[in-house]
Amino acid sequence: MRPIPYVNEEVCNRDFKYYIFDWDDNILHMPTKILMEHLNEKGEWVPVSLSTSTFALVRADTDHYRPPTEGGWTAAFRNFADPKHEGEPNHFIEDTMAALARVSAGERPSPSYNTFKKTLVEGRIFAIVTARGHAPETIEAAVRIFIENALSPLERETMMSNLRGYRKWLDKVETFGTDAEELDYYLGMCRYAAVTYDGFKARMAEDPIYKEKLATATTASRPELAKEFAIRDFVEHVFHMLQRTGGLDRSVAIGFSDDDKGNVKSVSNYIKAELSRRFDGIKFVVYDTSDRTLSKGRKVCVSGQMNLPGF
Ligand SMILES: [Mg+2]
Repeated sequence: MRPIPYVNEEVCNRDFKYYIFDWDDNILHMPTKILMEHLNEKGEWVPVSLSTSTFALVRADTDHYRPPTEGGWTAAFRNFADPKHEGEPNHFIEDTMAALARVSAGERPSPSYNTFKKTLVEGRIFAIVTARGHAPETIEAAVRIFIENALSPLERETMMSNLRGYRKWLDKVETFGTDAEELDYYLGMCRYAAVTYDGFKARMAEDPIYKEKLATATTASRPELAKEFAIRDFVEHVFHMLQRTGGLDRSVAIGFSDDDKGNVKSVSNYIKAELSRRFDGIKFVVYDTSDRTLSKGRKVCVSGQMNLPGF
């Protein structure tokens, strides 16, 4: 086997591929539960805790499922936000570790688990866009846990070699930092958007376009609108980065994967109606990963003029 070079200079021959991942049931099956009420056969509303995959299936069934009468949606999703007080456990970190442990014990991973792993090993920029309510730092911390647990030492070494390759090619760096510093730089280029996090909501409310869209949106369409905003944010980030490094002269593709059919549909519509027109040199590919039996999900929407092999 060829030894891994300290700097992989071959990265300059690659196309630009970026990914936007939903987290729950797309990268990992998290054990975090949603606390709802269910109308049973006797006509009584009883508390139930639902997995995220069950919730994705029943969330539209408002005749039989509703958030707790006390506390509403905030109470339903309280395990999906960072703890309010210092010293309390962070469910996201704990559940990420538990989910990774199940994969290493042999459980079938979520549909985009391997794509996310490959994205990291190749050192490609990505975004996590989730309906959760965590601070970006919490999600970044979970990504670091993923790197430590899901990647083998050889894969981590390959990742570092690729990261240095990109630094040399795009940032003209000749002297590299420590591995920890280079990893910090890379993860700092990625985006972590939890759309029910207060900081995210505040940023969205300040945006001139989304301020207006929010004003006329129904409650039900708000989470999808928020995902849209996060996606636009990442596409703009990628676009500006390519502009800065002069990378816009080659094929650029951005993939999006989500296991929630509602999100897949609204994101596909948004790409077709707005993004593909505004960024006409970028190819967009949307994957529906709601079918757990398909290892990479189903490609549902392709928009943009390029046709890249391998996407
Ligand atoms: Mg999901």
